[in-house]
Amino acid sequence: MILSSVCVYCGSSNKVAQKYKMSAQAIGKELARRKLHVVFGGGQVGLMGILATAALEEGGTVIGIIPEHIRERELPSDRLTELHIVPDMHTRKRMMVDHSDAFIILPGGLGTLDEMFELLTWKKLQLHNDPIIILNQDGYWDEMIALIKKTVAEGFSQPPDLDLFEVATSVEEVFTLLDKHMFPGKETLTGRM
Ligand code: AMP
Repeated sequence: MILSSVCVYCGSSNKVAQKYKMSAQAIGKELARRKLHVVFGGGQVGLMGILATAALEEGGTVIGIIPEHIRERELPSDRLTELHIVPDMHTRKRMMVDHSDAFIILPGGLGTLDEMFELLTWKKLQLHNDPIIILNQDGYWDEMIALIKKTVAEGFSQPPDLDLFEVATSVEEVFTLLDKHMFPGKETLTGRM
């Protein structure tokens, strides 16, 4: 699989610990270094803004997609490579998926949860088959992952649903998992050498 665009879902709040901001910055930089286009919500707020700025400063391509009615709240940057102003949230989500080959979920709030679950359910319904990597930094997503496992344990979801996503615990591991999708078989080859 050749990945060229990676969509990042993450929080829009500025009132979060520095450690989350540093990870967002590191992910933005590394995506740009790898010449992977960044697709995101378009706003210059929270982890979203930090990630986009880091990617742009590293010479990356950054595509923002923002609904008209939250422009004032999320303040799209005028430095983005492309900024799409769309009529509503549904169009935003659809476009983010259509423009991307893989997804990274960083810590976030309700908006991030909404986007992540839609992405997971669309994959379950075979509307896409792209990698979804969740950065579970310092256990931030532990309870959410435990809840998904509970839905399986109680029979509301099926065991293969746990394969819809992968979990990384560090920025480095996010890229190890991305590499696995970009260069499938490389690990096996290296293992044989
Ligand atoms: P949050 O995690 O709540 O800080 O939100 C992260 C991003 O998700 C923000 O850009 C929100 O505008 C966006 N968001 C919130 N609700 C939705 C939704 N229903 N569909 C798409 N994006 C959303």
